[in-house]
Amino acid sequence: MAAAQSDRIGTVPHPSRSELVRFSRYLLAPLALIGIDDHLHECSRCRLLLAELPAPPSYALGRPFPGVEVIPPSALEGLVRDWLSRFQNALASGAAIRIAGEGLTEKLLYQALAIVSSRMRRDGVQLEVRGNVFHGTSLPPRMNADAAILLEAPIFAPNFGEWSECRPGRLNLLVGHICDWNRIGVRPDLHLAPTFDAELALVPVVERLRDLAGRNRDGSELALLNAAGLDLPDAMCSGSDAQSPLVPLVDDRGLPLPWRALEWGQWLAREALGPFHANELLDIIQRLSPVTAVPMMAARLHSSGALCR
Ligand SMILES: [Zn+2]
Repeated sequence: MAAAQSDRIGTVPHPSRSELVRFSRYLLAPLALIGIDDHLHECSRCRLLLAELPAPPSYALGRPFPGVEVIPPSALEGLVRDWLSRFQNALASGAAIRIAGEGLTEKLLYQALAIVSSRMRRDGVQLEVRGNVFHGTSLPPRMNADAAILLEAPIFAPNFGEWSECRPGRLNLLVGHICDWNRIGVRPDLHLAPTFDAELALVPVVERLRDLAGRNRDGSELALLNAAGLDLPDAMCSGSDAQSPLVPLVDDRGLPLPWRALEWGQWLAREALGPFHANELLDIIQRLSPVTAVPMMAARLHSSGALCR
């Protein structure tokens, strides 16, 4: 009996490694995706296996990106070197560093953190990443690594537990959107703000989103979901609307995945729609029945709603 029980949790068997790989890249049919999402909710063994899978190159720190480049590669390398020396010094004395990005700096932020992480690991630093969209809404435990990154950190306010500790030889990096840090009244230590040019590039996108939200109820709900930090399965998007700001996510070969995101990232969407619709978010959550079929998504949406109150 013990052997039979170890093959499954409840009625669902543990997915194979190749199924987990396809799950992580959104390559499974929706029902299989939901089944594995349910299973991961219950099964720490498979969550661990999933966390250990190599991420495809179009993802950074477990998060997918639409293919938009607004930052020159030279800016990325400069940032990486600055943060690397800053973090290495902070690790020696012990620190909890709060990092904020916004709008157009989202991709740069995650890319820089991913590269800094791999260089620190190469230097022998143990480093872990916690708190991405697949890991639920309760504060993840701070494991025993030298350095640890907590993604979407403001969601877990006010009690950051061990993540706020400063001890020699331990570095905590708490990452979040500047709006979320502002909402909880915390001033970040590092704020990656867009350049003036990037802000100008933002204007037409923000205007397009606001226009969509004002005129098209269905569109505004999808945009809000996306603004709340969710990539949307194709099945939830009408698909034929050429004006839709939701574009397919692509893999590293440029092939579309069956998920969509706002063309310029969810953080940008939240900037565009957050002030406009924050009070409506909880009402909209209740009307979005398709989301409740994916419990981890629903949990994450509720935590985003809590941030907006
Ligand atoms: Zn399992």
